[in-house]
Formats: sequence, structure tokens, C-alpha cells
Amino acid sequence: MSFETPSILDSPIEYLKGVGPLKGDMLRKELSVFTFRDLLEHYPNRHLDKTKVNTIREINAQTEFIQVAGTLLNVSVLGEKRGRRLVAQLQDKTGILELTWFQGIQWVQKTLTAGQEYLVYGRTSVFNGKPQITHPEIELLRDTKADGKAFLEPVYPTTEKLKARGLNGRQIGKLTAALLPQISEKDLPENIPARILHHLNLPSRYHAVCALHFPANADQYQAALQRMKFEEFFMAQIRLNLARLNRHRHSKGVVFEKVGDLFNTFYTTYLPFELTGAQKRVLKEIRQDTARGHQMNRLLQGDVGSGKTMVALLTMLLAAGNGYQSCLMAPTEILAQQHFAGLSALLKDLPVQLRLLTGSTKAAERRKILAGLADGSIQMVVGTHAVIEEAVQFQNLGLAIVDEQHRFGVAQRARLWEKATVPPHVLVMTATPIPRTLAMTAYGDLDYSVMDELPPGRQPITTVHRNEHHRARVMDFIRTEIEKGRQAYIIYPLIEESEKLSYEDLMQGYEQVKSFFPEPKYRISMVHGKQPPEQKETNMQRFVTGDTHIMVSTTVIEVGVNVPNASVMVIESTEKFGLSQLHQLRGRVGRGSEKSFCILLTGSRLSNDARERIGIMCATNDGFKIAEKDLELRGPGDIEGTRQSGELNFKLASLVNDKSILELAKFHAGQLLDADEDLASAENLPLRQFLLSQKGKTSWSKIS
Ligand code: ADP
Ligand code: MG
Repeated sequence: MSFETPSILDSPIEYLKGVGPLKGDMLRKELSVFTFRDLLEHYPNRHLDKTKVNTIREINAQTEFIQVAGTLLNVSVLGEKRGRRLVAQLQDKTGILELTWFQGIQWVQKTLTAGQEYLVYGRTSVFNGKPQITHPEIELLRDTKADGKAFLEPVYPTTEKLKARGLNGRQIGKLTAALLPQISEKDLPENIPARILHHLNLPSRYHAVCALHFPANADQYQAALQRMKFEEFFMAQIRLNLARLNRHRHSKGVVFEKVGDLFNTFYTTYLPFELTGAQKRVLKEIRQDTARGHQMNRLLQGDVGSGKTMVALLTMLLAAGNGYQSCLMAPTEILAQQHFAGLSALLKDLPVQLRLLTGSTKAAERRKILAGLADGSIQMVVGTHAVIEEAVQFQNLGLAIVDEQHRFGVAQRARLWEKATVPPHVLVMTATPIPRTLAMTAYGDLDYSVMDELPPGRQPITTVHRNEHHRARVMDFIRTEIEKGRQAYIIYPLIEESEKLSYEDLMQGYEQVKSFFPEPKYRISMVHGKQPPEQKETNMQRFVTGDTHIMVSTTVIEVGVNVPNASVMVIESTEKFGLSQLHQLRGRVGRGSEKSFCILLTGSRLSNDARERIGIMCATNDGFKIAEKDLELRGPGDIEGTRQSGELNFKLASLVNDKSILELAKFHAGQLLDADEDLASAENLPLRQFLLSQKGKTSWSKIS
């Protein structure tokens, strides 16, 4: 470890010329800028190009931001109370622009003088055919001319409080302008190997940081931005890869050394269909993972219906064939029961013991199962995660599979098994597709498989949007499907199972469905979270066996339920659901050989967002495409199935807009670590030093 001389960048912010204790305090509180370095990393969000002045006539409905210069005509306060505002007109040779302020009226008014020439910048809108800007940035044109410098002036993110204390977006630039001359290359040492920089034609770290604040021109700024975005992604990829490599090296795992008779017998004589290419590939990955002597910690992402259950079963057979027990955990009782029924039927008379353990397992049966798991006479158990987590003792658990993990989160699951001396292999299966870019960062430290292929012969689901006025016709459509021998789901949104209001919606909906489909000719199941488990189970079972025609349900049905004969999915109040949930729900149909339909019912008035979501659902069945859209619409923070990870917080780079930079970063990080995973070579020394200086950020025990 080298002794680093303290950098000037670590100086407290109030020591910077022009800051002082008062502004220092404000900068800390408002922007979390504590040191020179923090200020340096507080990047401008745009640059003012004073040489680029537009005319007022150019403003139209499509214009977003504009910079214009002109004479201020009059400045007056209008309206009363809440409507009180400061209004001024700016006139250039081509027209008049209205400027409005709702806040800081007195203060702004003092700074403006009618008859003077000003430079104005802001977001335009057109009101009653007249262009206007609310809360523009405004300054005397004389000032800007006196500057004389034709340069790109940085404008920084700031807050109202800072603005009031003389630190608006541009005034912060005075501080960075004072800071930059004080630092040199040694304060911002290069951290990316020269070979990569050269290959990608990226500027050095020092030059890039300077140019982000004060670029000579737009090209230089772009190059700097590319470099810093690349750096952010690259460092994240290096860290995640190191964490994964570290786990591979240091974790112990049980060894499944052979394929085993159970697997082989099942594969050759019981497997009801040919595996898809994706299933085969994932099994191969699992086989390699589990034979190495290190713990497998693999995330398997497969779109709804891609056949994850079969992968789970084959992996469990692999464990059993090697003399190890396995468990499969499902998020709900219904799902656990369904897995148990499905797996039991597939296993037929194979010499392997499989049991179901859930909250409703009777005490006597439960005792027997616990005993069987403890003495090893039971090899496989399916259950709800709560039950398995609790007090179950295994004789030699070698494999834990978690189905539909997005309900409980990856990290917790992985941690659950860390206590054991030799932890079981963990396979986490999720049906919430996550965009590749997000997966690369959110799960970069896990091993990761994708099943992006559906079994052959599936017919694409036709999805349509109808509003409530069409309800009778939708019900008629369901009737014709039932007459063909099919079944239908009708789903109501229950955001919180306890929400009284939506619960009443469900009950009303149920009554309404009954009026369209009178007994005894039609039979209806209803399932919701408030029912006792037995009742839920009976209703579910009646639908599974085809005894009932229609399943009226809340989203408890969302995950994993498999009734291939169901061909219609009606979703009520679709606008209340998010994209990934809609995709999950739709995945309940289209599981058999019959053509299936998804009908998205909504009210007649829709927000733009809802309209867009529905449009996407109607346009594609591809879960990964839908996930990409979801990411675009909601941003990375909110995507279901991702954990909150520090690696998702990038200052400059965006997982939505900078995919190609991320791919590059991933590629180069991977290549670098393949060649030198200890970062021991001379060319990787700067990187190594950088990571060491980022204490706490890199989980990297083997480097010292
Ligand atoms: P999911 O990935 O959503 O959990 P499932 O495992 O429930 O999907 O599988 C969906 C359906 O596809 C099941 O009926 C299953 O039997 C069937 N299936 C799985 N793999 C194949 C395959 N390779 N060929 C044909 N059908 C398959
Ligand atoms: Mg499933």
C-alpha cells in the first residue's frame, strides 16, 4: 500500500476562493458538496453558448429551450395572492416574448430595468398563440459582451435556496473556474489502462474532467462525456466481476461430480418433450457450475412459459443422483402445490421421494416430512419459502431453487445460505425479464442465464384494448370461447390485498360476471388474498381441473399458475397495472395449443403513460422488449426484480441511453480480468490503485 499524499481535492469546500463558511454550509446542505472533489464531480447539466442566439420568431410549439436577446419592454406585477406574478416583455427584431416569474418576485423585479438589453434563456411554451418563458435565466447583454470570451459557459444543477444566496446554475461556474487552475494531472491520475483509452480514442481522465466543465467546443465536450460515462460503467463492471471472481475462488460448494442415473433415466424415458436449445444451454451451465467445487449462485431469467420448471426438476435430479437433497421454494401456496403436482406427475415411479411442505401441511404429515428430511430418506421438497426458511433441518442439502424470486429479492436469498459451512448451490428463477443493460449492472456479480426461447408450437397471444363500454361484447367473446371448451381469467387490480375499496371492486366485479354467466350453466371460481388457504386452494383446483369456466381473481394468480386450457385473459382497470405485471398476467394464457387472447379493459379516459403501456402490450409478446420499454418509461430505480444497488447510481451515464457504452465497458472489463484477474500487471497498476483508493466501494478481499 502506498502512502498517498493528501490531494488538494480533499480540501473542505469553504477553503475555495469565493466560498467561505456561509456558502460552504449551503453547498454541503443543498448539494452534498463537502470537498473540492465533490465540486469537481458536480458536473454541469448544460452549457450556454452565447454565440448562439435565436430569434423570437423561431419559437414554435416544438421548441424546447431557447436563448434570445432583446430589449425589456416593461416589468410589472400582476394578479393577486396565488395568481401574483411578475411579467415582462422581451422584444427583438422579430417579435415579443413574454417572461413570467411566480417566485422571488420582489428580488427579480429589482434586478430588471425596462429599456435595457438582456440575454434570456429558458424553456419555452406557447400560450394563446404567444411564446413565453416561465422563470427564465436572464442577464444584462452588456455583461456577456464585456466577457468577450466566446466560450461554452457551464450551467450547473442547483436549488432555489442556493439561487437566492447567489449560487445559481451559472454562478457555481465561477467556483469551478476558480478550482480548475489549482489542480493538475496528478490530482486526477489516469485509472483506465492506456491500451483501452487508445483503442477507444478517449481523452485522459484529467482532460476529460476539465472539458466537462469548460470545453473548448461541442466535440471536445462530447469526447469528455463519452470518456467519463465509459469510466463509470467500466469501474462498475470491474467491481462486479471482481466480486464474482472472488466468490468463485473463495466459496466452497458441494460437488455434483456425475450426471447420475436418476437424471439419465428421466431424460431418456420420462421427458415428455424435446428440451429447447435454451433449456439445454442453461442445464449445461448449471452442470458446469455444480461440478467445480464452488457454490453456484445463478440467476435464471426466462420469459413466462419458457419452461423453467423443467430446468428446476432436472437440476434436482442431478442433485439427487449425486446423493444430495434439494428444495424448491415458491412464493405462494398455490404455486407450491402446483409445482408439487406437476413434478410428482413427471417423476412417476422414479425411485426418489418428493414432498410438499407448506403452511397448511397437517401437523402429523409435517412431522414425518421433517424427520425424512433430517434422516435423508426424502430427497426433494417443494414448499413456500417461509416454511423452508424456518426450522427445516436437512441431512445434506445440496441445492436450493427459488422460483419467481422477484417477490422476495435475490440478495436476501443468497445470504440465507451463507451460514452453512458448505452452502448448497442456489438457482434463482425469475419470470420478470430484466433488460440486459440492467441485468449486467444489477446482477453483474451473480452468474446469469437467460432463456430467451419459448417451446415450439406456441401461438402468439392476440392482445387488444377495449374500454368499459365494450364490456358486454367482451363477455360475449368469453362465452364463445367457453362454448369451444376453453376457460377464461378475469383479473381485478388489488394493489394492496388489504385495500378495502379495491376489494369491493372485486366483489362487485364478481357479481357482475355472475350476471353475465348465470349458474348452473356456468361455473365461476374466485380467488383472492383474503380467503383462507383451503378455500383458495379449492377454488383454484376447480379451475385447474376444468370444473369451473371462469376464474375471477386478483393478482394472486399472477405468478406461475399453469392452466393450459385457459385461452382468455381479461384484465380489468388495466391502467392501474405496470408493464411487467401485465406481461406476467398475460403469461397465464397461451400455454396450450389453442389460440389465446388477452383483453385489456380500461376506463375511457387514459393518461399518456397508460396509453403507451397498453400500446406496448398490444404490440409485442416479447418479455424482454417489454422490459426495455419499462426501463425507458420508469427509469432503472423502479424496475421490479432489481435490487437497489449502488452500482445503479451513475452520475453521468444512463442505463437507458448509453447501452452501447455499457457494452463496450463490459467487454473491456471482461477482457482485462480474463488476462489479469489480480490486476498485477504494470499496465493495470493505475486501475488497481484507483480501486484501492475507492475504499468501501470495492469488495475485494484478496487485494491488499
Ligand atoms: P415458466 O418458465 O413460465 O415457469 P413452465 O415451466 O411453467 O414455464 O412451462 C410452461 C409450459 O411449457 C408447461 O406446460 C411445460 O410443460 C411446457 N414446456 C416446458 N418446456 C417445454 C419444451 N421444451 N417443449 C414443450 N413444452 C415445454
Ligand atoms: Mg414458472
